[in-house]
Amino acid sequence: MKSLNNIGFENTYANELNAICERCSPTSFNKSEILLRNYSLAAELGIDESFLDSKECLNIFSGRIVLENSIPIAQAYSGHQYGNFNPQMGDGRAILLGEINQKDIQLKGSGQTPFSKRGDGKSALGPVLREYVISEFMNSVNIPTTRSLMAIKSNENVFRDEETPGGILARVANSHIRIGTFEYVSYFKPNSLETLADYVIKRHYPELSDADNKYISLFAAICDRQSFLISKWMGVGFVHGVMNTDNMLVSGETIDYGPCAFMDEYNPSIYFSSIDKHGRYSYKNQPAIMIWNLSKLAEAFIPLVDKNKEKAVIELSEVLNLAMPTYQEYFYIEMSKKFGLKNVDQEVMNLVNNYLKILMDNSVDFVLSFRDLGKLLSDNKKIDDTVFKNVKNFNNWYFEFLNLLSLKKLTKLKVSKTMDSYNPCYIPRNHLVEDAIINAVTGDMKKINLIAELLKEPFTEKNGYESYTEPSCSDERYVTYCGT
Ligand code: AMP
Ligand code: MG
Repeated sequence: MKSLNNIGFENTYANELNAICERCSPTSFNKSEILLRNYSLAAELGIDESFLDSKECLNIFSGRIVLENSIPIAQAYSGHQYGNFNPQMGDGRAILLGEINQKDIQLKGSGQTPFSKRGDGKSALGPVLREYVISEFMNSVNIPTTRSLMAIKSNENVFRDEETPGGILARVANSHIRIGTFEYVSYFKPNSLETLADYVIKRHYPELSDADNKYISLFAAICDRQSFLISKWMGVGFVHGVMNTDNMLVSGETIDYGPCAFMDEYNPSIYFSSIDKHGRYSYKNQPAIMIWNLSKLAEAFIPLVDKNKEKAVIELSEVLNLAMPTYQEYFYIEMSKKFGLKNVDQEVMNLVNNYLKILMDNSVDFVLSFRDLGKLLSDNKKIDDTVFKNVKNFNNWYFEFLNLLSLKKLTKLKVSKTMDSYNPCYIPRNHLVEDAIINAVTGDMKKINLIAELLKEPFTEKNGYESYTEPSCSDERYVTYCGT
């Protein structure tokens, strides 16, 4: 194990894609302190865990020193935001320090960059803590995501609707290349399209480097990873909230935890973001929006695929048309796993659809329902002690489920165990995270430390923490704000 200083950064993006990034230095936050440290992620990166407690670490991640081997940059990208093209975007409040073991190490909230426009380039502390907790939860439930290495309090205020403490997130990602990065290059630097696509293949899809038409294969592979990702979101009731093309990574990881939230009661039409006026990015719209976003990527790919534009469009459309069926397949695989089943067939699909309809008609808590179902199977609970109490049609459904299990020669106890290892009991419930953040921002880290700890092992119920599995008692719709 080595400290960061000894390992040093690689700077492949800065070096190979210098046409689409700008060098810039992080602002120095002299009074900052580290609030949350991710020791296990440090270990995964090959960084000595004790390094996270060192002065040197704080110096690097608060912008006080830039290591000699780091070439800090802000990346350029475009984006379709709520359906409208914004060509000139880019990292306005994030700086990439470099890569360690092929992972990006980025500071989010570290001050202005050439892309900041009128923004301050800074982050409020609340959203930094929120991203830390939620992104690490996503990782704990095996959903591809950017990671959080550290949450830092800058001890300087930022000005949003009101003055509020500032923070920096040290974010780790397989890369930060977005659909919007391809849109930017196709719009401003078409001559660099192949360089970008080759870089993406080398970094994320090396198996394609010798493919016949490697760029159409690349497009297909990105469609596949996006389809898988969205199926995982749907399986845990995650509403991303701002699925603009600049927030979709071609590596297929979740990024940008601004206005996201988890649904409590199953309601496919739900959305939380205060600026998503018409629910464009609602839970049920996520697969369709994924396709819409991929269609924008397809447009950027046209010159890569064939000199003959019409031919390229036909080829890309053929691949794009497979994305929704692929998503559907992933979705039912995901759902069947949630029921402790191994394979998907028509009966399983009917079972899933009927279950979701019952949840919707009776406003049953989505996440809790799978844990309670596990408890029913293991005889640890009676129906009246579960979320299915007085739920119309549940008994019939349950009878069919038991029939299916016996047809598949699966025992109730085994299925119950499989379900408990697949369905989290703890998720970042909106009201809990919000309360913990309010406490943390005013200096009391107890609650957020506890939540971060519970979410590290989200499948293991711990005595005394039953209330952390429950939805909020409030009937008010939870609203998220982008005020990051
Ligand atoms: P996001 O909502 O994080 O996806 O950001 C959308 C765009 O706004 C990105 O180009 C960001 O870099 C930029 N942005 C967001 N907040 C700030 C800020 N405080 N200062 C400068 N740019 C920002
Ligand atoms: Mg973004």
